[in-house]
Amino acid sequence: MVKRLCRLTFAVLSCLALLVSCRRPLPGTAPPFIEAGGPGTGAAVSREEEPPSRPDSGAPPLEEDPAAGPAGPVPPAGQLSDSSTSPPQGSELPQDPPTAVPPEAEGPGTSEPVLPEPEVPEPVKTNTKLYVLMYHHFVPEGRTCNQWMLTDVRFREDLQWLTDHGWTTVLPSELTAGTGLPEKAVMLTFDDGYRSNYEIAYPLLQEFDAKAAISIVTQYTADQYPECLTWDMCREMVQSGLVEIGSHTNSCHGDRGIERQKGEDRETYRARVQPDIQTSIDLIEQNVGTRPIFFAYPNGIKDRWAANYIADHFPITLVTVGGCSDLKNGLYSLRRYNVSMEVPLSEVLPG
Ligand SMILES: [Zn+2]
Repeated sequence: MVKRLCRLTFAVLSCLALLVSCRRPLPGTAPPFIEAGGPGTGAAVSREEEPPSRPDSGAPPLEEDPAAGPAGPVPPAGQLSDSSTSPPQGSELPQDPPTAVPPEAEGPGTSEPVLPEPEVPEPVKTNTKLYVLMYHHFVPEGRTCNQWMLTDVRFREDLQWLTDHGWTTVLPSELTAGTGLPEKAVMLTFDDGYRSNYEIAYPLLQEFDAKAAISIVTQYTADQYPECLTWDMCREMVQSGLVEIGSHTNSCHGDRGIERQKGEDRETYRARVQPDIQTSIDLIEQNVGTRPIFFAYPNGIKDRWAANYIADHFPITLVTVGGCSDLKNGLYSLRRYNVSMEVPLSEVLPG
């Protein structure tokens, strides 16, 4: 009898072991899910699968589960710990989703701001028309001015007029950024690098929070010409964020700028002009701290022998032909209106 009882218990235990082994694969896979992706998909999936079976099976399964629960725990202790942990996690999981849902629900709620984004028409409305004004030298009120000079009083009037009529001053770096222009965009440019740009114009730029692009003849500054900007002045203005410094050549300005000279062949021309422009780039970068991104043709004179070199080194070039530029056509040869005492700004720009 004892032997039979032993065989029976052995048989029963074997059956239980088989049952357990059958369940193992599931739990065996479960842990990785729970541990790895665990909290998320693994646990959630197993739980989602379990719930449906319970409702389908109805009360019986529910009763069996609790019954199996206690029985199960005994044999597979390791599994029990897993299964026991899984149940709590399962209960936690359902809780997790709810907590996770709120944030997600908030997401969609906040997605409302995304709706305003359909302001896609804005890009369409983006202005591409740019007016560029060209100034040179500034003098105190009372001084006689030629067409390249302007008094401090008149420059103040210009800035006041721009402000009153809704114009926004922009810098070259804003053009290359490609972020679009304000509705009424104007770029103020000062050529030649006169000291008066710093002593007279700069304080007014600060007062009106207006920006300006100054093209300097670097040799004048490097050689410390008394009427020209110093590197310290250039740095201070650039650091204010209101000014950017560009190239107007190093020493090729003269009366004909970079125009080829009589009888000059292409190689001679390249050997004369390219190193000169490169020097201006290097001097500005070394002394101001920023690499120049615009080049103002001296006297507005261009030469196709220098075209490729200039295009390779500057994303923006400026000429002296009056007119409005459309940035859809690129940033080269932007037109500029020369501003003089004889012509009020109201006759240059549309109100
Ligand atoms: Zn010039």
